[in-house]
Amino acid sequence: MGDKEDARKARYANTDRERMRWYDMVGLCTKCGNDMQSATSKWCKSCAAKQSKMVMAREKRLVANGLCRKCGKKPFMSKSVSYCAGCYEPVLRRAKAWHKPYLKMVFDHYGRKCACCGETEPMFLTIDHVNNDGNVERKAIRSNALPKHIVDSGFPKSYQILCYNCNCGKHRNGGVCPHTKKGDFL
Ligand SMILES: [Zn+2]
Ligand SMILES: [Zn+2]
Ligand SMILES: [Zn+2]
Ligand SMILES: [Zn+2]
Repeated sequence: MGDKEDARKARYANTDRERMRWYDMVGLCTKCGNDMQSATSKWCKSCAAKQSKMVMAREKRLVANGLCRKCGKKPFMSKSVSYCAGCYEPVLRRAKAWHKPYLKMVFDHYGRKCACCGETEPMFLTIDHVNNDGNVERKAIRSNALPKHIVDSGFPKSYQILCYNCNCGKHRNGGVCPHTKKGDFL
């Protein structure tokens, strides 16, 4: 109650900065001052949603003009990477950093070696779908989101670690690694 009263007073504060500080102190949206801050930002849910809608519209406009979605100054690298090289670098770094701890958990759970040939060099290791239904799933989950998906679903038995060789061999050999069952390839 008292807080609301304080916030109302704050609306008459001398400067915008001062007012925003007030809103922040009493937990109100620092943009509109009407609603409570959301859990993830100093703005209320509707202000945050409006802002992200605006950002999305801006990015869409830039990309439609062939420009980097972030800086809007340089042309983007490609249709699938709609950033210029300079803006993409930190994005990529963050994406990698984000997915790394999950990948580590996945390797820790399934073992840091190829389930077929025993290869242990981490650079060679990949996540394999035991039942060869990776294509179906890949459409639903972006590949760098797969480790998190596996952790979230409690490390299902439908995954294993294979090296690139065994993984490729398995797909070329109709679902069984040629180490296990020789097939004719050439
Ligand atoms: Zn607001
Ligand atoms: Zn850029
Ligand atoms: Zn292998
Ligand atoms: Zn193998």
